[in-house]
Amino acid sequence: MTESKRKRGLQTRIVHAEDQITPGFESFSTPVTRASTVVFPDLAAMRALDWKNDAQWRYGLHATPTQIALAQRLAAIEGGKHALLQPSGLSSISNVYFGLLKAGDDVLIPDNVYSPNRDHGDWLARDFGITARYYDPLIGAGIASLIRPNTRLIWIEAPGSVTMEVPDVPAITAAARARKVVTAIDNTWSAGLAFRPFDHGVDISVQALTKYQSGGGDVLMGATITVERDVHVKLKAARMRMGIGVSSDDCSLILRSLPSMQLRFAQHDRAALSLAAWLKSRPEIVAVLHPALADCAGHEVYKRDFTGAGGLFSVVFDERYSAAQIDTFCESLELFSLGWSWGGAHSLAMPYDIASMRTAAQWPHRGTLVRFYIGLEDEADLRADIEQSLATLA
Ligand SMILES: *Cc1c(COP(=O)(O)O)cnc(C)c1O
Repeated sequence: MTESKRKRGLQTRIVHAEDQITPGFESFSTPVTRASTVVFPDLAAMRALDWKNDAQWRYGLHATPTQIALAQRLAAIEGGKHALLQPSGLSSISNVYFGLLKAGDDVLIPDNVYSPNRDHGDWLARDFGITARYYDPLIGAGIASLIRPNTRLIWIEAPGSVTMEVPDVPAITAAARARKVVTAIDNTWSAGLAFRPFDHGVDISVQALTKYQSGGGDVLMGATITVERDVHVKLKAARMRMGIGVSSDDCSLILRSLPSMQLRFAQHDRAALSLAAWLKSRPEIVAVLHPALADCAGHEVYKRDFTGAGGLFSVVFDERYSAAQIDTFCESLELFSLGWSWGGAHSLAMPYDIASMRTAAQWPHRGTLVRFYIGLEDEADLRADIEQSLATLA
């Protein structure tokens, strides 16, 4: 320490500490870098900054090394080049809308989309001068006839939330590309593991990292993943203007879960498929909406384009059971909890009134739908639990 530094007060020496940390420490964890201020080596470096360049550090809101480590790994999982983190999956959906649309533009949304996405589209249509139109998720190449000169964005969800129809993604993206319309897929269901959107012509993949990437039911986060830099930069501009960033602590929790994600996904997949096949044999149930089973609309497309299914599927009960009876069924489950979100170790069940959620396509079933999320409990216990709860219907 120089003489002038030694004369500084204790408080200054605490703030400007000169830690002597032995170099050479190595561990498997990604360091957590928390920052608002990012320090520049000199003013020339500060003035030369380009906000579009992801390799430059500017301000803790926009990126820290922990956040970029997570973004890079997420991009690698899906075969993308760029990723932007948001504080929730819904916030990533919102980022796509505000990054790409302006007043006078048109957006096409599948009728079975994650319902807060639908609400977001309706809000922009009501208050921000865009038009939001809903399409039959099984439309495939027929989407071409819905594209208007001012259509800027087509949403895809594969499969659709709750009802699980599997859309023909390459047919939709081919029609969109022919008219230079950007496509965004909500790819949360497959975690980016079982469906590779960029191999099928999609421009933007949205992940609710809250689900399998977190894996603990304890972190909320979202990501948009892209290949084209132009699209990435548009999303980045909207994110920056809205002042949106994420916590490096939350990123470190997801970084901790990522290495086990494929193994967890495979286990969810095995148990869910086995329980779904068993439910198909039950007299109370008329349809099992699991993309790997033939009852599910788009099953053939699933076989062509997907490599797995994870833990989420739905069943339709016979219409002889009232909605109140199905509520009792759900509440009588002991290992399945009632609650939103999924992707953690705990199994969940939730009833839905689908007919009230549709405007573009007729829902073909009449009975009540229950969506199951199969967690990491012993499969035999989950089956016994469903069995005892089905007995309440007798
Ligand atoms: C959960 C979910 C989201 C939203 O994620 P949040 O982090 O809860 O906002 C978006 N899309 C799908 C398909 C989801 O399941």
